[in-house]
Amino acid sequence: METKFNTNERIPAKGYAVRSKDGKFEPFSFTRHPMGKNDIIIDILYAGICHSDIHSARSEWAKGIYPMVPGHEIAGKVIAVGNEVSKFKVGDYAGVGCMVNSCGECEACKRSQEQFCERGQCVFTYNNLDCFHNNEPTYGGYSNNIVLSEKFAIKVPKNAQIEKVAPLLCAGITTYSPLKFSDIKEGSVVGVAGFGGLGSMAVKYAVKMGAKVSVFARNDNKKQEALKMGVTHLYTSLENVKEKFDFIISTIPTKYDIVPYLKLLKYGGELAIVGLPPADVIPKVSVSELVYNGGRKVYGSIIGGIKETQEMLDFSIKHEIYPEIELIKSNEKEIDKAYENLTTGKAKFRYVIDMKK
Ligand code: NDP
Ligand code: ZN
Repeated sequence: METKFNTNERIPAKGYAVRSKDGKFEPFSFTRHPMGKNDIIIDILYAGICHSDIHSARSEWAKGIYPMVPGHEIAGKVIAVGNEVSKFKVGDYAGVGCMVNSCGECEACKRSQEQFCERGQCVFTYNNLDCFHNNEPTYGGYSNNIVLSEKFAIKVPKNAQIEKVAPLLCAGITTYSPLKFSDIKEGSVVGVAGFGGLGSMAVKYAVKMGAKVSVFARNDNKKQEALKMGVTHLYTSLENVKEKFDFIISTIPTKYDIVPYLKLLKYGGELAIVGLPPADVIPKVSVSELVYNGGRKVYGSIIGGIKETQEMLDFSIKHEIYPEIELIKSNEKEIDKAYENLTTGKAKFRYVIDMKK
């Protein structure tokens, strides 16, 4: 079972890449940096498809680094450990989210908010240059393995439903973190805008935390699923909404106006924004709207630190909170199809690539 790697040797890997912003996926062979003394190698079993993968692959936020192997929702099995690794042993399950390294020394890293690394050394799982490894590009989870510092790998207990774990590593933490930051609890009135991969996780966590939860969607195609998750209302228009909210989380990935959501907040209510539409349609808020709708708070949130990601994972497994997934085969056509469905309203919640096959 144990695979030995010479620590000086680069790790061969195979995956799926796009070569340009309008390119289709194709098989791609590459190598990863050698396993350092604090690194582990994970055999990837499952990889989730996040809408951020689409924004990145299509250069919707900024020009991408090609060839690009997306994927920052990774679940797999540890197949090799460096000499000084203490958190993992061969055979353990492990998860990887959006980050694979950071400086570890600045104030943000010390409080385990590595995504805000003050030295700008937070290395993202793909489409990024790894300053700890000669600035080579990082490649993500649509592949058969990954090598990274054990500090950035999340422990996944043996009893987890492993095929459903991958989306927790991004969709899970990105919604769990602001719900905790805004102190959602029994009786909180919560709204979730955008009911896809992230939105459905926000619903599940908020319901578990005891909140009364409503969803804002473009249509009621997924009303039955929403009701099953414990949602009390699914609104397809903001006009007739009578209730006022303590907290609204927006996971919307397309052009929209945030002001109507702001107006739905109670005095002192909070709007957390995690959806990040393409740069050319990014929502802008006028200062006068903020002033005239005063007494409400708006903030953005980006994933969550490693410590909180572990907390989210443990919470999810303990309470059996898993994403709604559709498993797809690991081939380029299936990935292309999933991207198309996610941008044409045909997708339900999360596609997960079965990387074992
Ligand atoms: P999905 O595509 O899975 O879900 C998005 C959902 O939003 C879909 O159900 C879509 O509905 C719905 N939607 C689109 N436009 C509107 C609208 N105007 N009003 C209401 N609902 C709408 O995407 P993800 O959940 O994977 O990602 C969502 C966003 O979050 C992306 O922009 C992504 O990049 C971002 N993100 C941010 C992170 C962070 O750290 N801040 C981390 C991860 C993701 P329909 O089916 O009708 O299209
Ligand atoms: Zn993501």
